[in-house]
Amino acid sequence: MQTRLPEALLATSEGQRAEAVLRSCVHCGFCNATCPTYLETGHELDGPRGRIWLMKAYLEGEGASEITTRHLDRCLTCRNCETTCPSGVVYHDLLEVTRNRLEDEGAPRPLPARLARWALRTLMPRRGLFWPLYRLGQHLRPLMPARFRESLAPPSALRPWRPAVAAVSAPRRVLLLAGCVEGVAVPETQHATARVLKALGLEATLAPRAGCCGALPLHLGARAQAQALARQNIDAWWPELQSGAEALVMTASGCGVEVKGYGALLADDPVYAERAAFVAEKTLDLSEYLQRFDLTAFARKAPLRVAWHPPCTLQHGQGVRGVVEGILDAVGVERVPVAEGHLCCGAAGTNAVLEPAMAQALRTRKLAHLEKDAPERIVTANIGCELHLAAAAGRPVSHWITLLAEALEG
Ligand code: SF4
Ligand code: SF4
Repeated sequence: MQTRLPEALLATSEGQRAEAVLRSCVHCGFCNATCPTYLETGHELDGPRGRIWLMKAYLEGEGASEITTRHLDRCLTCRNCETTCPSGVVYHDLLEVTRNRLEDEGAPRPLPARLARWALRTLMPRRGLFWPLYRLGQHLRPLMPARFRESLAPPSALRPWRPAVAAVSAPRRVLLLAGCVEGVAVPETQHATARVLKALGLEATLAPRAGCCGALPLHLGARAQAQALARQNIDAWWPELQSGAEALVMTASGCGVEVKGYGALLADDPVYAERAAFVAEKTLDLSEYLQRFDLTAFARKAPLRVAWHPPCTLQHGQGVRGVVEGILDAVGVERVPVAEGHLCCGAAGTNAVLEPAMAQALRTRKLAHLEKDAPERIVTANIGCELHLAAAAGRPVSHWITLLAEALEG
């Protein structure tokens, strides 16, 4: 596609990234066929091809209206279009550049939307503030409006996971990330992960000063905030990775895709670029890490039928496909067939809060497929999907690692 980006923009690395993406798109529209928001509304501007036009017009200097932001805000960043595109268009790169500029220039949005986005960006990455508020919210759930109640898991009997002892002397150890939502909403996931790792002879640990991975601010167009969080995490993880922690293991695929992108996020930073690329290389989804081990100790003692929901951040964002499925098969879990496994469930970062109608429509479609063969449980690999699906599913929803941890009980 021909472009007419202003010289001033082309002189920047973000302008060059945008130009490269725009030029690689041939506007064929194949991607619309797998775009969840396009399938839902049928509106050209709710599909990737239309959004690419909107972003091109904006970056070329035509300005942005509320129509521009409405259709770009509705994008789930699920990256299904990237998996489908025959021309290899790196759509999310263009979206990130555009959202960042829109935010910097004061994107036209109604006041309630601006306030909601500000509150999410301000609260969620600050664990000291967010975790007590989240816990309070869990206890006040029945009084909450539905769009907030759905993001709050019922209070857990467990406290957020912490390493039992300093693990620096363990023969093999890995780093986990407490994260902003998973650690407080469903601590069961990290407790189960640590038990499974321990059974394999590995110690799990945390870098105390590591915090939010930055995915949420980046999704909301706040690139500088995401970069600052990335630098803080790199500083926290660096000594651990230099002193024997063999990997940074992600239990939430939404965080995993973000940290694997640290190299690109900080590529222009003369101080952090090299360390960011190293940290990204050391980052693995939990399934990628566990597939290296003999998992026969986790074979199920009783049959169990589950439906597997692969998060977009795992299958499209990280390109990890078939790995969790292989692990579930290896431990004797029966997976029911699920149609449209490539489509987003609607959670998509903050989408469930900011775009509730779209999020619920996509969830209804997703659950119809997941529950069609009446599985006993639904399993997934990202906290956002887990909470969003659990709010409307007719059966338990959990991270898949809990199935392996169960084999260690009794
Ligand atoms: S992003 Fe890819 S599939 Fe979509 S219109 Fe452009 S070239 Fe075609
Ligand atoms: S990222 Fe997902 S929602 Fe956004 S345009 Fe691509 S397929 Fe559609």
